[in-house]
Amino acid sequence: MMRTPVLAANWKMHKTVAEATAFTAIFLPKVADVTDAEIVLAPPLTALTAVTVACRSTRVAAAAQNVYWKRHGAFTGEVSAAMLQDAGASYVIIGHSERRQFFREDDTIVNRKLRASIDVGLIPIVCIGETLDQREAHETHTVLARQVGSGLNGLTTAEVGALIIAYEPVWAIGTGRTATPDQAQDAHYHIRECLSAATSAEAASRCRLIYGGSVKPENASALSAQPDVDGALVGGASLDPQSFAAIVAHSRPGQ
Ligand code: PEP
Repeated sequence: MMRTPVLAANWKMHKTVAEATAFTAIFLPKVADVTDAEIVLAPPLTALTAVTVACRSTRVAAAAQNVYWKRHGAFTGEVSAAMLQDAGASYVIIGHSERRQFFREDDTIVNRKLRASIDVGLIPIVCIGETLDQREAHETHTVLARQVGSGLNGLTTAEVGALIIAYEPVWAIGTGRTATPDQAQDAHYHIRECLSAATSAEAASRCRLIYGGSVKPENASALSAQPDVDGALVGGASLDPQSFAAIVAHSRPGQ
């Protein structure tokens, strides 16, 4: 099964509108000829529309970093999936480990956010991954199976096939410590097996599984060369347009 790679930039709480616009001015020409990968920029919410406008008539799309599952109502500070779409998002990151850690998001919340996002046509990038303690206790596969099982509960086979799942070992995020290509492949293979058992082999083989955790231009190619690694979710190294463009270049098929 040929899967189109996804290279997604998670800017977290970085960049003003002016900084985001300066980034796109340098970055977009560098990836203008990329037709064999999906490139996604996830700016902070305040820069979402500016990034969407800058990316108009390009193949680069915008993502939100979070979503609330209710459609509207008295939920001060929250933003619905339809509102994100209205602001220009085509993708949404759900369940990032920083949200799980600092905002107490669990798999039930992830599942609600997934449902709400899929219902309006946003493409979710669902983040899962084990902590260092869990890896050292040899619980990686159990944790991933639980996060897949509960987080994706109730999704149809077609919905699972259209998902993007980011495997992001928590110990590799922002630490400079990257999973080895073998560690990433082992986790991705296991996630695909879990998806296959829960839905169908066909849906599991269509679902894009991307790796996140200290991806840099120097390690992107070896990670993307793994058979079950379909791209990358990049934090720190995506803040610089040259660096993220280099990651895109090194992650494309045959690179
Ligand atoms: C992330 O936050 O999704 C991430 C992968 O960060 P970093 O690349 O900085 O490890």
